[in-house]
Amino acid sequence: MQYSIGIDLGGTDIKAGLLTADGKLSCRIVVSTRVNEGAKAIAARIAQTIQQVIKTAESDRSDDIRQKIIGIGLGAPGLIIAGSGIIHFSPNFPGWTDIPLLNYISAELDGLSIPLYIDNDVNVMVLGELHHGAGIGYENVVALTLGTGVGGGVVINRKVYHGSWNTAGELGHTVVQPNGRQCGCGNHGCLEAYAGARHIVERTQQQITEGQKTCLKPQGLTPKRIAQAASAGDALAQEIFSETGRYIGVALTSIAHILNPQIAIIGGGIAAAGEALLFQHIRSEFAKRAMDIPRKMEIVPAKLGNNAGLVGAAMLPYTDQ
Ligand SMILES: [Zn+2]
Repeated sequence: MQYSIGIDLGGTDIKAGLLTADGKLSCRIVVSTRVNEGAKAIAARIAQTIQQVIKTAESDRSDDIRQKIIGIGLGAPGLIIAGSGIIHFSPNFPGWTDIPLLNYISAELDGLSIPLYIDNDVNVMVLGELHHGAGIGYENVVALTLGTGVGGGVVINRKVYHGSWNTAGELGHTVVQPNGRQCGCGNHGCLEAYAGARHIVERTQQQITEGQKTCLKPQGLTPKRIAQAASAGDALAQEIFSETGRYIGVALTSIAHILNPQIAIIGGGIAAAGEALLFQHIRSEFAKRAMDIPRKMEIVPAKLGNNAGLVGAAMLPYTDQ
């Protein structure tokens, strides 16, 4: 049996786990990232976590697992120069510029010589879904993650497409409204400015302020509360999700026309709103707009949930970057 280790490096937590070649995740460990301590301290903590995963795995299985680990993969938010192991920029790690994170981690690994890999967290999520989730059996896949921001990833011929300067797949910044809401990237009318969590909340607050009838209060709003109100029949909350779905359908139309993928996988917290509140609106908008052949693209929810980052990161050693 072969193994790999996946690390999901986030602004709050470092998650790690051991993956078997057939996609079973075990020995899951979560520790705090503590961003303020800086890159080298975080690299040291990642190295300790790796050692701990191996120790737990060996005591669980009484097997010399470290000999059978083919590699360690890391997923991290931001612009990652995958081939060089560098984090060029990350919104979750303020002040980090061109951090050679993999070198820092290897230096802390105490003679453990296992190859390390890194990629952007959404690219890694797509890899996870491709090999062990909703994308099994497909070659050309796009994915959107609907969270605080809207992430994207593109797989062509079963490989993540990185583009010329490692920035491919920013699907959340597909413009869906030329003079629309301002996005965090500075541009106007990006998908993220409609389907990102903060923007969903702001759009709802705006409607409430304009006097739309609803059971929702403008304070303390979250996408989850809006989704609950929508499920309970609140018309404004339902319209917010339906409009969000329509914008995603508009973005997917351009994406399908450019890339002609077989499947679009949609994950992240907002996607939990599900079929009735969100997915049916995405599909019907897409069906209305797309040309008949690219319209064959399936639109499905992600399957791996919170484990997508870990499973996908652990797949990096298996992919030829
Ligand atoms: Zn944008």
